[in-house]
Amino acid sequence: MFVDIVKIRVQAGKGGDGAVSFHREKYVSAGGPDGGDGGKGGNVVLRVDTNLSTLVDFKYRKNYAAEDGQNGRANRCFGKSADDLIIRVPKGTLVKEAGTGRIVADMSSEEDVVIAKGGRGGWGNAHFATPTRQVPRFAKPGLPGEQFDLVLELKLLADVGLIGFPNVGKSTLISVVSEAKPKIANYHFTTLVPTLGVVRVGQDRSFVMADIPGLIEGASEGVGLGHEFLRHVDRCRMLLHIVDVSGMEGRDPIEDFEKINLELKNFNEELAERPQMVAANKSDLAAKEQIDAFRAYIEEKGMAFYEISAATRQGTEALVYAISRELEKLPPIKQYEAEAVPESELPQKGERAFTIRRENETYVVEAPWLTQALSFVNMDDYESLQYFQRVLRDSGIIDKLEEMGIKEGDTVDILGFEFDYVR
Ligand code: GDP
Ligand code: MG
Repeated sequence: MFVDIVKIRVQAGKGGDGAVSFHREKYVSAGGPDGGDGGKGGNVVLRVDTNLSTLVDFKYRKNYAAEDGQNGRANRCFGKSADDLIIRVPKGTLVKEAGTGRIVADMSSEEDVVIAKGGRGGWGNAHFATPTRQVPRFAKPGLPGEQFDLVLELKLLADVGLIGFPNVGKSTLISVVSEAKPKIANYHFTTLVPTLGVVRVGQDRSFVMADIPGLIEGASEGVGLGHEFLRHVDRCRMLLHIVDVSGMEGRDPIEDFEKINLELKNFNEELAERPQMVAANKSDLAAKEQIDAFRAYIEEKGMAFYEISAATRQGTEALVYAISRELEKLPPIKQYEAEAVPESELPQKGERAFTIRRENETYVVEAPWLTQALSFVNMDDYESLQYFQRVLRDSGIIDKLEEMGIKEGDTVDILGFEFDYVR
């Protein structure tokens, strides 16, 4: 089965919690705090695997979660950080955010991409021993890992895309001009998986040709097989339109040529304007008049026309050289830039909502947006703490606490992190 678009969910690991623990030893009465830090949650990482040519694996598995970091333990034992979860994708996979369609990554180089970051581990209470607070009874919880719903879309990386009706000889051509060995058979829809072939031109030049599953009429309206395969030629620098000029199957080359171009146009205007060359194939079976009539029609349109026979290799070398010369004039393969998160989706000032409820002597503050601010706070550092105080004050949390009647020494719980309230 060939699958070229899938939706998956990725979940990075949560950071391990910091430990609250006190040193215990024989003959030592009151030990100091020795709770270790939690480990970091695992990232979810995308990696290109050049052996893959479809997204079929994702059809059966939709959820990918990295492990959580381990919690810290007594004795200043750090929790183990979780390994990254590696997801392998075919080269040319475009990654989008499911909700917005925002491009997150283009997996067209060999570089790994961290698609969801694991949460930082929380600090154990060993961190919080300060001259004034000898017995810290709090530790920081680990932060949650990022979670995203993603759409993976395969867009092959090729210089030249073959287009044309089934059975016109596309697979045969790629098999004779490159090392690729696609299935060739005398029936329609033989090509179900795209094939990439490296075409060598003389000593030191080459280009990549893509054989994609054949198009059928009405494909752009979603009738049958075809339309969805057009996305594969989306990145191609030029298209090579293969037409069966022999008329053996009772088809007319001009009609075929126009139908395919109409399909292209219906699918994507821009794609229809991509540079295109025409190869009249199966010329070994065609009468000279047939070929000449078709040639006249194509040249009238100002397009380059090549007469070939993929089966006997007649004219294929000349075609390959012509393609190579054309490619020299064209821009490189399209790469997609990751798109920034729009301003409107970033947390805004004034949207810093929070709730505070009272549990016995503890005031519990709930404010998801604070997670981020808290993750940057270094409790050992005066400046850093000042910053955090400021965030609490600016957002109105302190005012609200006072309104609720908080007293000196009461406990405030923010995201599981306990503070003593000091005026
Ligand atoms: P595709 O569906 O476009 O990939 O077409 P294939 O490459 O699978 O070819 C379909 C059939 O046409 C096969 O039986 C091929 O052997 C045959 N064929 C391809 N090219 C030529 C050619 O130049 N001359 C002749 N006589 N047959 C060809
Ligand atoms: Mg084929």
